[in-house]
Amino acid sequence: MQKQAEDLVKLLKSKGLRVTPQRFSVYANLLTRYDHPTADQILSDLNRHGPTSSQATVYSALQALREVGLVREVLLEEGICRYDANVARHHHFRCRCCGTIQDIPWDTFEPLDLNRLPSSMQGESYEVTVYGVCDRCQ
Ligand SMILES: [Zn+2]
Ligand SMILES: [Zn+2]
Repeated sequence: MQKQAEDLVKLLKSKGLRVTPQRFSVYANLLTRYDHPTADQILSDLNRHGPTSSQATVYSALQALREVGLVREVLLEEGICRYDANVARHHHFRCRCCGTIQDIPWDTFEPLDLNRLPSSMQGESYEVTVYGVCDRCQ
């Protein structure tokens, strides 16, 4: 764990980020989970053993991490912003029963040809969201 913490600090620094305890703990939290939490879920996780973080500091830490490309927003539900420390290209699976979001490896599907879009649309990127039922809800 000590080694991992050192690596994390190095990674944050390599992105030009000043390493604050908040940025560190928010990023460390996101790296250990694959459920695409909201800022509030991260906050309650960090405060599980006593209040250490506020909503404002979690938001600003997420913002800083997002700006340097370590974290990205996942917008699969209207008005709900979730966060993902997996910034490699991938697709998502969303369970329509429990709302769980899981990653799908990018090479699962054949690539789409964005040149087939009407010329009025300049496609730049895409990702697929598959809706269905996860194995816990089946
Ligand atoms: Zn489910
Ligand atoms: Zn994801």
